[in-house]
Amino acid sequence: MTVRVEPHPSFPGVYIVEDAEGTRLATANLAPGYAVYGEALIKHGGIEYRVWNPYRSKLAAAILKGIKQIFLKPGSRVLYLGAASGTTLSHVSDIVGPSGMVYGVDFSPKVMQQLLRNVVEKRKNTVPILEDASRPEYYAGLVGVVDVLYVDVAQPTQAAIAAANARLMLRKGGGLLLAVKARSIDSVEDPQVVVKREVKALAQSGFEILESLELEPYDRDHVMVAASYHG
Ligand code: SAM
Repeated sequence: MTVRVEPHPSFPGVYIVEDAEGTRLATANLAPGYAVYGEALIKHGGIEYRVWNPYRSKLAAAILKGIKQIFLKPGSRVLYLGAASGTTLSHVSDIVGPSGMVYGVDFSPKVMQQLLRNVVEKRKNTVPILEDASRPEYYAGLVGVVDVLYVDVAQPTQAAIAAANARLMLRKGGGLLLAVKARSIDSVEDPQVVVKREVKALAQSGFEILESLELEPYDRDHVMVAASYHG
């Protein structure tokens, strides 16, 4: 079967590839020849695409579940909290492209090593920050103003972390994507209650909630919240 690649109808920088393996999301690889987490690389029309796995990335899952707005586009400046080893961050780096910038914060030195080796060393539009995301004053000067705040730190205090970072770095009218951990094995709390609490806290911190989306069947534990920031 021949390979077909179409731009995603709503999100610039996101593609839909179709080949013998099926129809999948992808991004154009900013570091050709390199995969970040074992994803397939597909060449078409002189461009290399990286298949984007929704079971590994909540943002890909949210796109497949029909999220209406991801705020990201070529040229966007992004602050990414909970960068980990860069699975999703690397696709964000592809989407914003050479004219954009992604600042990736994580407080774990172990994952930061992997982020450096697999992502930052090969992509000029990524900046690693080994810091605690609940202390944004330590890196706000380095980051400056961003268009999009992506938060996936799996902490009960996520909404407060998002608000503190937004206050210092997110431009008015900018976008927030926050992966709420609604279900966890050590909690008996109703997932809907958890999401309601996070959404309320965000609304009290200057965010207008646009949507909140369950990610099943790709991810059973998280809900993706999209919001715009009014300060
Ligand atoms: N967003 C990643 C992806 O999709 O590829 C996965 C992120 S993982 C669920 C959560 C990450 O947040 C972990 O790497 C953890 O070290 C980091 N983290 C948790 N609390 C943090 C904090 N307060 N500051 C910085 N990083 C934190």
